[in-house]
Amino acid sequence: MKDKITIDGSRGEGGGQVLRTALSLAAVTGHELELVKIRAGREKPGLKRQHLTCVKAVAEICGAKVSDIEVGSTSLAFEPGPIKGGDYRFDIGTAGSVTLVAQTVIPVLLKADGPSTVTITGGTHVPFAPVWEFFAETYLPELRRMGARVEAELDSCGFYPAAGGVVRLRIWPYDEAKRAERYELTGLGAYRGGVVKGVVSHLPRSIAEAEVGAVCVQLRDLGLRRDIQEIDAFGPGNYCCVKLDYERATVVFSGVGTYDKSRKAVANEVAHEVREFVKSGKACEKHLADQLLVPLNILVGGGYKWETDGLWEDEVWHPNWNIDVQKETLHYKTNQDVIAQFSESLRN
Ligand code: AMP
Repeated sequence: MKDKITIDGSRGEGGGQVLRTALSLAAVTGHELELVKIRAGREKPGLKRQHLTCVKAVAEICGAKVSDIEVGSTSLAFEPGPIKGGDYRFDIGTAGSVTLVAQTVIPVLLKADGPSTVTITGGTHVPFAPVWEFFAETYLPELRRMGARVEAELDSCGFYPAAGGVVRLRIWPYDEAKRAERYELTGLGAYRGGVVKGVVSHLPRSIAEAEVGAVCVQLRDLGLRRDIQEIDAFGPGNYCCVKLDYERATVVFSGVGTYDKSRKAVANEVAHEVREFVKSGKACEKHLADQLLVPLNILVGGGYKWETDGLWEDEVWHPNWNIDVQKETLHYKTNQDVIAQFSESLRN
C-alpha cells in the first residue's frame, strides 16, 4: 500500500468532482485515501446518492476497504486493492447522474486485468452533469483518441425525479503498447453543420417545439436542423441539446428542463452556451476540459516536473498532450489541484 493522500473536499469548487477524481486516482495509483470536508462548498454538504454510488462502485472494482459511510457523510477512508475487470451493476437509486458515475469508473477499469461490462441506473439527463449525448458524442470519442476502447449504449433515459435511466458500458484494458504518443485538441477544423434536438417524455410536445424554435432563432447563423422527439421514459422529463459537427469532433451543449425552469430559460441557456463556445474560437469546450484531465493524466502522460528558476514544480500538464480550453473554470482548476496531489505516482 502506498502512503496516504489526504484530500480536503472544501478546496476550490468544493463539489463532487473532488471526490470522484480522488477515488479514480487512488484506485489507479494504489494510494490510500482520506477525504475530509466532502462537498463542503455545496448547499447540502456530504455524500449524495450519486457520490455514495461512486465510492461503492470504485471500492467493488478494486476490492477497497472503506470506512462506514452513508448519505450525508463528510469524510471517508479508502484503501484500494487490485483492479479487477468483470461484470458490474451500479444502481444510484435516485436521479443522480449516471454519466458522472461512468466517468469515475471508466479510467479505473481501463487499468483492470481484463474486460468489463458495467450497467448503471439513475439519471441520464439531469442538471449540472453531462447529458447522455455529451458523454457519448463529445467525451467518449476523445477517450478513444487517447487509445482507450470503451463502448456505451443508452437503454433508457432517466430524468429527475423518477430516474430509471440505464446506460451500459463495455471497457477493455488500456493497451500500453498502443498508448497515444500525442494527444491534441487544439483545433476543430471546418464547421459541417448542426442539429438542435428537443425531447419530452410524458410532457406536451409543444415544450420541445418551443425550445427548438427559440434556439434556432437565436442561433440562426449556424443553420441548425430541427429534431423533436417524444419518448416514453420512466417518468416525465424534458431536455434540449445542440450538437455542432466539426471536421475534428462533435460538441454537444444542453439544457435540462425542471419543474421550476421554463422552456424559455432552457432554450436561452443552451443558446448562450453555444454562443460563448463559438465566440471563444477554442477547441476544447469548458466542461469537456475539466473532464479530460483525469484520462489525460492516466493514459497519455502525467506527473510532469517543470523547472522554473532552478525549482522543480509538479505540473498537471505533459508535453505529450495539449488542449486549447474554452475557459479555465473553477472545476478545471480544482481538478488540476486534486490531480497534482497524485503527481508523483502518475509520472510516466
Ligand atoms: P460537480 O459539480 O463537482 O459534481 O461536477 C460536475 C461535473 O459535471 C463537471 O465535470 C462538469 O464539467 C460537468 N457538467 C456540468 N454541467 C455540464 C454540461 N452542461 N455539459 C457537460 N458537462 C457538464
